[in-house]
Amino acid sequence: MRYIEPHGHMVSRTTDDYESMALAGCAAICEPAFWAGFDRKSADGFYDYFCQLTRHEPKRAAKYGIPHYSWLCINPKEAEDLGLAREVMALIPQFLQAPNVLGIGEIGLNKNTRNELKILEAHIDLAVQHHQLILVHTPHLEDKRKGTRLIVDALKSHGKVKPERVIIDHVEEHTFREVVEQGFWAGITLYPESKASPQRAVDMLETISSQNVWLNSACDWGHSDPLAVPKAALEMRRRGHSVEVVDRLIYQNPLQFLSQCAKFKDPGVIA
Ligand SMILES: [Zn+2]
Repeated sequence: MRYIEPHGHMVSRTTDDYESMALAGCAAICEPAFWAGFDRKSADGFYDYFCQLTRHEPKRAAKYGIPHYSWLCINPKEAEDLGLAREVMALIPQFLQAPNVLGIGEIGLNKNTRNELKILEAHIDLAVQHHQLILVHTPHLEDKRKGTRLIVDALKSHGKVKPERVIIDHVEEHTFREVVEQGFWAGITLYPESKASPQRAVDMLETISSQNVWLNSACDWGHSDPLAVPKAALEMRRRGHSVEVVDRLIYQNPLQFLSQCAKFKDPGVIA
């Protein structure tokens, strides 16, 4: 089996996790910038985090033979502080030329507040100005449906966003359709408890026709499983899906989306 982990928060993981992922067939990892589990007190904390994502984490991944890519932004939770958010956003352009940066993400909404929405719109504009791909986080539980609608509206009302260059992540049964019907890519996040289990994700995939979808594990600092994607693949094989169908979902689909950024190299091709 081979797969791409298109959304994994590896700075939270151990080297044992890298080893397990490499053994399971992980061919590349992409790491969006996100909330660290606590609010950072200054933009300097984000400067260091962006250095970690663009310079240090790729070296750690390389020890396990895995190419590492990243996405940059201030996450929606900390974006509630508009002053801090604007300072952090001003840092981003200098990192966009780094060889492993794929785009702006994971932006989005957390509690669907006015401030979060302002910073979401500013990030969308930053991405368009710099020709960057966009990766979007959608809110949890009761805020998800409304948040997803607000996000789709913000993306569409910008006027210059190409939906095929945007992936809206953490979709669930009640938000999947509206994302793909508008032409965006959809990400299904696999978690042991919250979000989708591998079984639920496969149920969802069996009921929709869209090809523009990827699976990811998020594997952050909370209860999460860095092997969730290969486990979902195993569930698909158990249900009788072919090797080709599974490969399409966990390798070719993320490859197709991510290759819209020239920096992303097909890990299956020998340079
Ligand atoms: Zn994430």
